[in-house]
Amino acid sequence: MSEAAAETFQELYGAAPDGVWAAPGRVNLIGEYTDFNDGFVMPLALPHTAVAAVSRRDDGILRLHSADIPQGVVQLDVAELAPHPDAGWFAYPAGVVWALREAGHPVTGADIHLASTVPTGAGLSSSAALEVVTALALNDLFGLGLSASRLAVLAQRAENDFVGVPCGIMDQMASACCEDGNALYLDTRDLSQRQVPFDLAAHGLRLLVVDTRVKHALGDGAYAERRAGCEAGARALGVPALRDVPYAELPAALERLAGESENVRRYVRHVVSDDHRVEQVIALLDAGDIRAVGPVLVAGHDSLRDDLRVSCPELDLVVAASTAAGALGARMTGGGFGGSAVVLVEEAEADAVAKSVTEAFAVAGHTAPRVFTAVPSKGAHRVR
Ligand code: ADP
Ligand code: MG
Repeated sequence: MSEAAAETFQELYGAAPDGVWAAPGRVNLIGEYTDFNDGFVMPLALPHTAVAAVSRRDDGILRLHSADIPQGVVQLDVAELAPHPDAGWFAYPAGVVWALREAGHPVTGADIHLASTVPTGAGLSSSAALEVVTALALNDLFGLGLSASRLAVLAQRAENDFVGVPCGIMDQMASACCEDGNALYLDTRDLSQRQVPFDLAAHGLRLLVVDTRVKHALGDGAYAERRAGCEAGARALGVPALRDVPYAELPAALERLAGESENVRRYVRHVVSDDHRVEQVIALLDAGDIRAVGPVLVAGHDSLRDDLRVSCPELDLVVAASTAAGALGARMTGGGFGGSAVVLVEEAEADAVAKSVTEAFAVAGHTAPRVFTAVPSKGAHRVR
């Protein structure tokens, strides 16, 4: 794909690009809606990537093109970049240029061609892939010397403040920092991290991603509402963030929240218990007991469905049908209300489980899901 991106770049802009970079989409194994509570997450990078062919410019002009959007080259003036809602797809890379400049980095223009194999709107972070690949390319071309974590933070700033999506830091950190064969254990408070070996094939296991191919409109306002509820919970408990509530103190915390709404109590229970589930999964992986991760995934899904209420019938069906067919565990991944689920299965049973899920979707009258294997892949890197 990098070859094709370089060729298209040449056709569009009349010269070969200075370089080609790639940044992946991600799935999150465990720890959902915890990243805006300063909590823990455990994503892994997918083999699907956004690729950027880029040349540096020094005349203040930013030109953007995507192979995946039926729109020609968009030309902008970097000095005039300013957040405005509904700008369109190019707000993601343009927002990165804006965020870098806002942080004082002298990015003086670029020609950019993007092409991505990350499914969009499937909860697999095609948006973060686009931002991170742009950030890494500009970091290299302008010699900014920023770390992968710093690039992720600036990419998140682009999405939050330029595009206007109030996402946490997980997606950008996953795309920027994951490594081949590993899951990323990330503390979203200080961005400290550990690569956790996640070689499923060596254990005769597989992680399937099931993209339900649905996106329920409910999702947009619901995210902000959950976020506000979590912040209200932390305020009422007198802690900076829900991450500061130890799991052992959850029952006492819930009692202290008796005066709050039922929603706030349910959100607190989800976040504190999901942070705990990240710790459980880490302990199991460190002990080499990967199969025991399955029930923790199911407990995480139940919590997202019943307490946070961000699941949907299609995601619930993936979990029910896959576990009924012998999967070790499954859960929705990402923001929910559609998008994708992950399913942990024995290698030998993976095809049968995938078939059962697909059949269950047909019986329920849902659009056929897309199923693929999540091979833990490397984070953003220069390709050529
Ligand atoms: P997700 O990140 O889960 O895929 P989002 O809604 O956050 O979903 O981001 C999807 C948006 O990102 C698309 O609507 C589009 O604006 C932008 N995007 C993603 N991939 C591309 C691409 N290859 N070319 C242009 N825009 C893209
Ligand atoms: Mg996104």
